[in-house]
Amino acid sequence: MVNTHHFGLELTDNSKTGWAFSLSRSQSCVQATSICKRLCYGNGIRYQSAAQKAKRERNFKTVEYLLDMGGSELLAQNLVALVDQARPADWLAAKISGVPTSLPWSVRIHDVGDWHTTRYVQAWQIAVAQRPSCKFWFYTRSFADADLLGAIAQLASLPNCSGLLSIDSENFDSGLLAFARHSGVFKLALLQEKQADLDPELLPAVARQVKQGQIINFPYHHGGRHVKPLLDSPLTNCPQITSEALPLVTNKYMPKPCQSCAFCLPV
Ligand code: SF4
Repeated sequence: MVNTHHFGLELTDNSKTGWAFSLSRSQSCVQATSICKRLCYGNGIRYQSAAQKAKRERNFKTVEYLLDMGGSELLAQNLVALVDQARPADWLAAKISGVPTSLPWSVRIHDVGDWHTTRYVQAWQIAVAQRPSCKFWFYTRSFADADLLGAIAQLASLPNCSGLLSIDSENFDSGLLAFARHSGVFKLALLQEKQADLDPELLPAVARQVKQGQIINFPYHHGGRHVKPLLDSPLTNCPQITSEALPLVTNKYMPKPCQSCAFCLPV
């Protein structure tokens, strides 16, 4: 008999991105590089509380349980219910009166975690297609397996979903290959270490293949400090990390930095 008390899907309200869905890293980050394991912001104290870890593990366990019990369709039904919890409070009134909501309706998929199976990606495909008014986005390192990448590309091709391939000195070759193989589908996201630690081939390879507006740069940051941002073309530095224009927001009635910036979100 399964103890259903230990199951459930839950969102996290993130002060940078807004509503987000997370999975445990050890189980879902199947193509994590040693660099991202070392520098992942999920290592931070805020993400390491017992409650946050338990939530991510419960989400993962529930995802697998629903997939086993009813496949991608059953999980999708539950994901749609979850996404509806992220609706702005005035969503219904705005819909009836035909005016925009006071805050955007958005969900970042995988504040922590990544795509680990095709059937899981397919569940999100169904859910995202059923909620065209909500904007979804995700970053992923799960691009080395062609079948998994193919499913992820289908998801990122939906008009209300944006997918960014996360690259670093270890995986930029396969990331750029995936970017080229699915031309026009993905953007790129660079996890930037100190310039001295970057693979010397990385920036030239990016410059040959990527245009301005197609890649966001995340200078590694920790405890309010970040490494010196690269200014090389075609990189755009994340303004939330590298400027004071978009401070973190905990007030639930204010747009979050990513909702205001929207570089990574679908247009
Ligand atoms: S570039 Fe903009 S949307 Fe992307 S992570 Fe930074 S603040 Fe958020």
